[in-house]
Formats: sequence, C-alpha cells, structure tokens
Amino acid sequence: MEELFCRCKINLLLRVTGRRADGYHTLETLFWPLESPSDRLSADLGATPGIVIDCGAPALPTDRRNLVCRAAELYAAAAGISPAWRFRLEKHVPVAAGLGGGSADAAAALQLLESRYGALGRDKLRELAVRIGADVPFFLDPRPAAARGIGDELEFLSGRLPHLPLVLVDPGFPVRTGWAFGKLDEAGQGGTSAALPELAAALESGDLERIARNLGNDFAGVLMRKFPLLSLIRAELMAAGALAVELTGSGPALFALFPDDAAARRAAAELAGKQPRWTTIAAEDGM
Ligand code: ATP
Repeated sequence: MEELFCRCKINLLLRVTGRRADGYHTLETLFWPLESPSDRLSADLGATPGIVIDCGAPALPTDRRNLVCRAAELYAAAAGISPAWRFRLEKHVPVAAGLGGGSADAAAALQLLESRYGALGRDKLRELAVRIGADVPFFLDPRPAAARGIGDELEFLSGRLPHLPLVLVDPGFPVRTGWAFGKLDEAGQGGTSAALPELAAALESGDLERIARNLGNDFAGVLMRKFPLLSLIRAELMAAGALAVELTGSGPALFALFPDDAAARRAAAELAGKQPRWTTIAAEDGM
C-alpha cells in the first residue's frame, strides 16, 4: 500500500490580472504550502480492474468528478496502463474553501502512480497536472512560489523564509471558483494594491508585520460584500490579536497571521470555543 500526505496551500497574495482568449483568467499569486491540515491518500495498485475511490467525506463524489479519479484516468491513458487501482482518501482539508485540497489530492495521485510505474517523467507529469487544474502543478512540488500565467508558471522563492504563525477559519459554505471569477468580472476586476515583488521582499526580510502589510486578494471585496459573515470573522480574528487577515484562493476560508505560534494557538482555541460552527485550525506551514 503506497501512501502520501496531500499538503494544502494558502495564497498570501492573489491578483487577477486579465483573461485569456480561451476564457482562463491570468493571475499573479504567491502560494504558501501548509503541512497541516492535509489529506492522506493511499493506494492499492494491484486491486481488481478499474479505478475505485473510497472517501471518508460523504459530500465528495467518488466517480470521475473526484480529482483523484481524473488524475488516475489521465495517468493510465498517458502511460498506456490498464488500471487496477483502489484509492483511499482521508479528507481533512475543508472542501471548496480556497485551500486547494482537491488539487493537492490530484497531484498526490499522479505522484503515487509515477513513483510506482515511472512511466512519464517530470515534464509529462506536469502537463497532465495542468490539464487537471491550474493549481495542480504547484502541488507536485509544494514549496513557496510566485505564480503567473493561469497559476501554473511557478517561480520558487529563494533565500531563508520565515515560519508563519497562521490560523485558518472556514465558515463552512462552499464557494465555486467559477462563480467568484464571474463576480469579479462583473465588478470590473481589481481590488488589492499589494504586489508580488514587495511581498517576496517582505518574506525574505522575515519581518511578520511587513509581511502582514503586503498580503492581498482581489476576491476579498466581492466576497466580503456578498457574505458579511466573512467581515465578521475577520473582525473576530483581528480582535484576537491577528496582524492581518486575508482570504485564500477564491474563498471563503480566511487565514490570519499572528505574531507567534502561542498567540495563533490561543486565538484558534478561543474562536473554536466561541464559534463552533466555523472550522478554526491553527495551521502548520512546516518552515
Ligand atoms: P482552489 O483553491 O484550487 O480553487 P478549492 O480549495 O477552492 O480549490 P477544492 O477543495 O479543491 O476547492 O474543491 C473544489 C471542487 O472540486 C469541489 O466542488 C469538489 O466537489 C471537487 N472535488 C473533486 N475532487 C475533490 C477532492 N479530492 N477533494 C476536494 N474536492 C474535490
């Protein structure tokens, strides 16, 4: 039985810079991987013919709409293998929250298969990853990275990077990424004045307050207007001592940056006690 942890991500910055002729939006983003929460994907690669997904999360499809299944189908076709694969997905990352959980699971499936069969090589694996989703290539090697294009042109950050004391709050309602982009298009785009070079410099300085001043997300305006609950969560996190609170991906999960781990853990415990309907997690970035 092969097994992998599927790390999720937050976007410390997310700017939507335009739209390509094929409909895809172009982005400038900074991906920051998280060790936890993470999903766990295991695979029995000598099962009965076909591709089967067992998943603990009842809300998730287990057919080809599941990104693990899609990754496995693409791998089988590209490698010319008749699959006899059974995957077991233990889901811990909130779904459709902006944390990239599905993309992480898909990348883990590609990696499990490649480590067993070695049939495709890095470039081909990357090509399959982009076909599954723009975030998937990042999860093939989840290290802090600036991304451009549709989010697939990665440039890893160099230098010593700080550990970020983070709290995640997922209000528990899903936001479809397509819907959020539609709202942004209607609103005429724009929002954050934060920019990649300044954020990268702030990260390299290790100064948490400077990092806090350089976070941003273009979806924040439209989502906060549509879901006032998000502003309430932000206010709660700021009152609990956060240096900054920002949306990740196209939401609705928010992350908060705290001055240190103790403050982050205290705030997470306090908020989880006060608002048990939200999922509040002191996240681990592994830096
Ligand atoms: P991103 O930040 O990459 O836009 P997200 O965190 O907002 O992603 P996901 O949790 O990846 O969203 O899920 C998005 C959609 O993908 C959901 O509608 C879900 O039903 C579907 N999906 C398919 N497979 C999975 C999976 N293995 N885990 C989570 N969602 C999945």
